[in-house]
Amino acid sequence: MVNSRDPKSTIAAVQHPTVGEAGKTGTWRTFRPVIDENKCILVTSPKARCHTCWMFCPEGNISKTRPPRVNYDYCKGCGICAQSCPHDAIAMRKEEDEP
Ligand code: SF4
Ligand code: SF4
Repeated sequence: MVNSRDPKSTIAAVQHPTVGEAGKTGTWRTFRPVIDENKCILVTSPKARCHTCWMFCPEGNISKTRPPRVNYDYCKGCGICAQSCPHDAIAMRKEEDEP
């Protein structure tokens, strides 16, 4: 249960996307973010810290893993993650061009 007065509870609620009344919303997307693991600092430098994309995604759709993963079931394709990546490791690609 989410307690809005408990900061940890609020953050946890934001970090885990779940099925809402609209169901899976990934089908709305025109562009999808694709992470280039050859550029992501978490892959290229084992001791590095980043997860900027995870922090800025407004939908909580990026995992805090090494490398980070996008949950395409709920990603809206807003591009904030790509804009926020300090290593230019996320490209926004046309949905129809991706498998
Ligand atoms: S495109 Fe937007 S919704 Fe999708 S992972 Fe990036 S920041 Fe999140
Ligand atoms: S912001 Fe870019 S460099 Fe940082 S973890 Fe995400 S993809 Fe990797």
